[in-house]
Amino acid sequence: MFNASLKQLSIQLAGKKISSTELTSEFLKRIKQLNPEYNAFITVNEELSLAQARAADQMIAAGQAGPLTGIPIAQKDIFCAKGWLTTCGSKMLSNFISPYDAGVIERFNQAGAVNIGKTNMDEFAMGSSNETSYYGPVKNPWDHAAVPGGSSGGAACAVAARLACAATGTDTGGSIRQPAALCGISGIKPTYGLVSRYGMIAFASSLDQGGPMAKSAEDLALLLNVMVGFDPRDSTSLQREAEDYARDLQKPLAGLRIGLPKEYFAAGMSNDVASAIEKALDEYRKLGAQTVEISLPNAPLAIPVYYVLAPAEASSNLSRFDGVRYGHRAESYSDLADMYRKSRAQGFGPEVKRRILIGTYVLSHGYYDAYYIKAQKLRRLIAQDFADAYQQCDIIMGPTTPTVAFNLGEKSGDPIQMYLSDIYTSAANLTGMPAMSIPVGFGDKNRPIGLHIIGNYFKEAQMLNVAHQYQLATDWHNQSPV
Ligand code: GLN
Repeated sequence: MFNASLKQLSIQLAGKKISSTELTSEFLKRIKQLNPEYNAFITVNEELSLAQARAADQMIAAGQAGPLTGIPIAQKDIFCAKGWLTTCGSKMLSNFISPYDAGVIERFNQAGAVNIGKTNMDEFAMGSSNETSYYGPVKNPWDHAAVPGGSSGGAACAVAARLACAATGTDTGGSIRQPAALCGISGIKPTYGLVSRYGMIAFASSLDQGGPMAKSAEDLALLLNVMVGFDPRDSTSLQREAEDYARDLQKPLAGLRIGLPKEYFAAGMSNDVASAIEKALDEYRKLGAQTVEISLPNAPLAIPVYYVLAPAEASSNLSRFDGVRYGHRAESYSDLADMYRKSRAQGFGPEVKRRILIGTYVLSHGYYDAYYIKAQKLRRLIAQDFADAYQQCDIIMGPTTPTVAFNLGEKSGDPIQMYLSDIYTSAANLTGMPAMSIPVGFGDKNRPIGLHIIGNYFKEAQMLNVAHQYQLATDWHNQSPV
């Protein structure tokens, strides 16, 4: 049951082989048993989860079930969920019970899915190792000495350790794909604007995008079918005709042109990662695809550009946490300004403070043109590189991360090294393009390796097809650490 695909579970639920209440109880039991070790969840609320399970059982009995009805799904603690503690991994929101549902949560509720708990994450989604969380680090289920990746580290751990059937994540610079790669699962960041940001606590609004994390591409397709949709409460939400993201899963890959950016196969990638990626590409050639070398000349600038723009937007977004409206407020202070100062000083951790400082600096009068405007121009050039590349190929592949999971504590003292974890992923956020990671083997210390697949805008169905065909031919995605 813990290894079953979403489709298999849905068939079992519809055929009354198991009820959602039973399924949910089994997962809750497993979380109780294993979460103290993994720390993948910040909040578990049996009462709320079981109430949803009972409602799902009624939907099934009434013949109103959809593909996700009754299925336990873990929600990243960045999504506001009514009645649930919603912390965003921060002390600042450690007392915040959300009075409303995020757009994504509403869509899962309407589909009859069960929220099995809120997953641990880097504070305000700033991090690549889950070590900036106020609630402590998450362990990589493949090797407890390793990080799970971040910021959606709890989500990746929960799926890999089979503590949930699937999970949601958010990706501002790589936070769905990087932890998916380091934990050996599949995850997709959709085209910017497809998934509602309403009620998804803002980090860098022009980059933030929610998406699913799961055991397979097929599961991702079913989750996307629920998550994607126009939301008038999100000003950048796209109004498009609904798509079935599973529609092309079975298509053969003959004739597919895979672009391999030479900048992503250069120095920096470790040997174990390089050889796993090469083997995966061989598999694709066997499946009938051809590979072509392409160039993304400005892609190496993605990290510096990202670390100007993301902190700039974060410094503005996080100004709402002032101790007045919600969240942490200092107990003693002398006047209003002192209350702001102390509440923020106590409520935010060191990485969040670093981002606010950088963001405020690059937006300041004297430096705005030199940093912020320059970064915006480079962002445009990076997008142009991808547009040019898609003249020569249908899809782009490379490694998701330069190395396998690093050890807990290994990079926490060196922000630049930590930031470089997203060297291959952040360009897709800057351009808004969809990108995903799928497991393609194991490297050093038997830790998982992810293949990065970048698609052109709105090519999610094609990317899931490309991932699914690989998963039909291989079984990396079926391996579990527990
Ligand atoms: N690791 C990147 C950062 O720290 C990306 C995080 C994310 O995608 N939320 O900002």
